Formats: sequence, structure tokens, C-alpha cells
Amino acid sequence: MQTIEIALRPKAVEDAAAIRQAVVRSGKIAKQEIGEIIVNRRSIDARGRQPVYRLRVDVYTPEDTIEAEAPVSASYRDVSDAPEVIIVGCGPAGMFCALEMLEIGLKPIILERGKDVQQRRRDLRAIQQFGRVDPDSNYCFGEGGAGTYSDGKLYTRSLKRGNYLKSLQVLVEHGAQPEILIDAHPHIGSNKLPKVVANLRETIIRYGGEIRFGHRVVDLGQEKGGGITSLLVEHEGNRTELRAAAYVFATGHSARDIYELLRSKAIRLEAKPFALGVRIEHPQPLIDEIQYRQREREENLPASSYKLVTQVKDRGVFSFCMCPGGLVVPAATAPGELVVNGMSLSRRDSPYANSGTVVAVELEDLKPYAEHGVFAGLAFQREVEKTMFQSGDGSQAAPAQKLTDFVAGKVSSELNDTSYIPGLHAAPMHDLLPTGIYQRLRQGVQDFGRKMSGYYTDDANVIGTESRTSSPVRIPRDRQTYMHAEVPGLFPCGEGAGYAGGILSAAMDGANVARAVKNYVNF
Ligand SMILES: Cc1cc2nc3c(=O)[nH]c(=O)nc-3n(C[C@H](O)[C@H](O)[C@H](O)COP(=O)(O)OP(=O)(O)OC[C@H]3O[C@@H](n4cnc5c(N)ncnc54)[C@H](O)[C@@H]3O)c2cc1C
Repeated sequence: MQTIEIALRPKAVEDAAAIRQAVVRSGKIAKQEIGEIIVNRRSIDARGRQPVYRLRVDVYTPEDTIEAEAPVSASYRDVSDAPEVIIVGCGPAGMFCALEMLEIGLKPIILERGKDVQQRRRDLRAIQQFGRVDPDSNYCFGEGGAGTYSDGKLYTRSLKRGNYLKSLQVLVEHGAQPEILIDAHPHIGSNKLPKVVANLRETIIRYGGEIRFGHRVVDLGQEKGGGITSLLVEHEGNRTELRAAAYVFATGHSARDIYELLRSKAIRLEAKPFALGVRIEHPQPLIDEIQYRQREREENLPASSYKLVTQVKDRGVFSFCMCPGGLVVPAATAPGELVVNGMSLSRRDSPYANSGTVVAVELEDLKPYAEHGVFAGLAFQREVEKTMFQSGDGSQAAPAQKLTDFVAGKVSSELNDTSYIPGLHAAPMHDLLPTGIYQRLRQGVQDFGRKMSGYYTDDANVIGTESRTSSPVRIPRDRQTYMHAEVPGLFPCGEGAGYAGGILSAAMDGANVARAVKNYVNF
């Protein structure tokens, strides 16, 4: 088998005969030596005049036999009678922690405050249409966590943290499109993710694990040495005490009540840097024109994306979670706050392109909030989210400004069309944002306009606020044991604990934590 690279026009990318011809044309392998061809990597190269796909292909000889790899699920076993471990949170971290337990022989019991994917959909509609935010069921809370109704981008910079390909393989085995295994920028989409998540749930249950929806952890019991002895769980107004061999906390970056609970127990937490800013929405054809030099994309070219970064006054300003052909969504987790984020469907075919555009917030920036101690970042986030909410009429309509008016510091007389269903209202974002954030964003978007001609335009809206980029608090853990150093039995996990930033890194962290729990339980 030889691996070579070929380039193809987009319309030919899925055409097996065209791929074979390109391999022959490359002249790298004699025609009679070419048997089966398998694409193992695919990316778009839009640097030249005409965008092309670059494919890395494995070319087998006609004599080779290709053995299919065993599915990951072949190594799951029945864990009904295995030691029980409670996982709090059914996001990617919690679910992949549970799946790993099926391999290593622990029984996962997931407690999730929200609802299953189907019922959750109704609550999302209530936020979109009536501005009603259920603090237990929203874009962040519920089955699949913040990853279910998202863009479903699956790339991560933290490849070293775990088995990236295995996580993708698990998703494919549960219904995700197989292309995610070869695409340089894999993505699933919100129309497919709920089914994948429901299939993951079925696997966990089939092998003896449990998932209890509508179960919110409200308190914990500790022994004298600090170790966790039990959790107090609220379900339909009743409280029950649950015990297990270990407790994984995979509650995500928006579970502020969990941080409060841990602090009330004097469990050590740490403040950590994060980022905050706005979401900027452009027309997708404009971005396509800039990136592909095509206002009407040719067949097989996906909605184009961008990644922008600059430095302003010692702080990074960068685009974050770009959603080509996507929608801006209301991601608040409690009434009285306004938070936006982005999602997309698998086809990424909305006429809009949006991305978070944020400024790095370092601990030294939080001095005015010092009275909140380790929660200084949380207090800052909260204040901005409240200010954004209070600028409106009490609904989830978001404050916004045209990009050029944002830089000029003037309220827009009219706004561009938007994908944001609750609607936008013209507001002085230059006054609503903290000064240090506004000034850096103001300079940052002008820098972006110089790097990407056409980006800086009055056809774009700036929407407030993108505040939940990552957790402002870390639940510290030991590097070797993955356990909180002072609280035996407590395993902080995923994004809420400060050890992941995205679906895939949370999933990989979940799997790592499962193995660490196994060591602890066996000891
Ligand atoms: C709209 C949106 C779009 C996104 N798009 C992408 C994307 O395209 N790609 C990407 O990589 N990332 C994306 N993200 C981020 C990604 O979803 C998160 O990084 C990821 O879900 C973190 O996983 P997690 O398991 O650590 O936490 P979460 O997914 O936040 O899950 C935590 C779970 O814990 C539950 N929980 C909290 N408190 C309690 C409690 N007291 N008791 C019981 N359960 C509790 C919550 O209900 C929640 O379900 C997006 C996020 C949002 C909101």
C-alpha cells in the first residue's frame, strides 16, 4: 500500500472514477499496481484561483486484501453487576466517560438535570419563540449537553489528550456521517446530533449503565477526611441520597450552582482565564466570495469559513466557534441573562455565517471583581449578560449594531437581516460592553478587515453577547489520578472542570477520567 496526495475539482470529489484517474495521472504508481483506493484525509485548499480538494489516499495493489477494523462497540461488555460510578452531567464528557466504563468494567449511572433530546426540543422552542428560559432545559442543559444543538464541529487542537479517532469512530457507529473520519474539519450538524446522542444513550443502557433525566445534584455528603460519601439529588421535587464507588463531575461551564455548591463545602476551586465578546453575523455569500472568489458556490463546496486572530493591547482577539451556513441561538441558562452562541444543520445551508469574536480575559483584568474571590470571572460574565438582557424588553431579543456602526460608536438606524429567531434590537454595544473588551474588539474587527478584505462591512451585525466560551473557574485535579487532590472520590471532568474546550476534547477527557476512576476503584 502506498499513500499519495491528489488534488480534485470539487465536483469530482465523490466520484470514484475521477479519484482513480487522478491517482493514475499523478504518475506515482504504475497503473497495473493500482487496486483498491481508500481516501483517508480530505481538505479544501482555497488558496489558488480555483478551490480544490486535496485528498490523501491509500492505494493498495490488486493482490492486497483489506481487513476491516473491529468496531469500538465490540469491546463493550455487560456492566450491570460492576461497581457503580455516578457521573453528573450527560454532555459529551459524561457520555464518553460512561461509554469507556462499558469497556473497562464499571457501571455508569448518569444523573442529568435536563431532559432527553426529544423533550428538550420543546424547551428550545420556548426560548426561541417566547423568550422563556428553563434553568434545567435549554441550549446548554439536557441530554448530550451543550453539544447536541450545536454546530457539531469536531476538530480539536488537543489531539494529545486522547484517542481522537476512536471518539470519531464511536460517533460514526452511532449514526454520524462516515465523512467525519476523513474530513480535515469534520462536522455533524444539529439535525443529526440528537439521533446520534439518543443512540449513544441506548448503548449505555443496553450494556447495563443507567441515565436518569430530570435529576439535578443539589448537595453532597463528605467524610471527615473530605472524601465524598454521597450526593443529594432532586427529582420532581423529591430529594434522594445516592452513593457510589466514585463521583465524576462533568457538569459543563454553565453549571454555576455546582461551583457554588463546591465553594460552600470549602472544596478548592481556581479562577482561570477565559474569553468574552460578541457574535458577528455576515451574509454567507459574502464570505464565500471572499474565501472562494465565488458568490454562488459550485457543487460540493461547503459554506466557507474563516479563522481570524490578532493582538490588541496585550490581549488576543480572535474568532471562535465559526458556524458557516449557521444560525445564532439564545444560549442563556437562566432567566434575566442574554447569551448567544452558534449552531448549524449538517448541510450548513442557511444564508448566514456567524462566529464568536472574543477577547481573552486574564486574571489580572478581573481586579475590579476581586471581592468575589475565585468567582471574579463568573461575576464579570454575569454582569455583562445581565446588562445585555436589561438593554432589551425582557425577551431574548439581543442587542445589536451594524459592524461599521460598532466601530464608529453609534447606534444603528437599522440592522441587517439575521438568523437569530428571537430578533435583534439596535443598541449601543459600545456602551454595553466593558470598555476594555469594546476597545479591543473595535480595533480587532478593523484588523480582521485588513487581513480578510470584505469582512469589515456594514452588511454584518454585531450581536451581544458571546460570554460562555469556556469556564471562568477550574475544579482542580491531580495530573496523575485525575482526582481532586483534597477530595477523594471526586473526579472533575470536561469543560466545566476546565479540562476541555469543545465536544471532542470533552469526550476524550471523559474517556481519560473513566480509566482514572477504574484505577481508584480497584485500588
Ligand atoms: C450553541 C452551542 C454550539 C456549540 N458548538 C460547538 C461546536 O460546533 N463544536 C464544539 O466542539 N463545541 C461546540 N460547543 C461547545 C460544546 O458543546 C462544549 O464544549 C461541550 O458540550 C462540553 O462538554 P461537557 O460534557 O464538558 O459539558 P456540557 O456539554 O456542558 O454538559 C454538561 C451537562 O451537565 C448537566 N448538569 C449541569 N449541572 C448539573 C447538575 N447539578 N445535576 C445534573 N446535571 C447537571 C447539564 O445539564 C449538561 O447536560 C457549542 C456550545 C453551544 C452552547
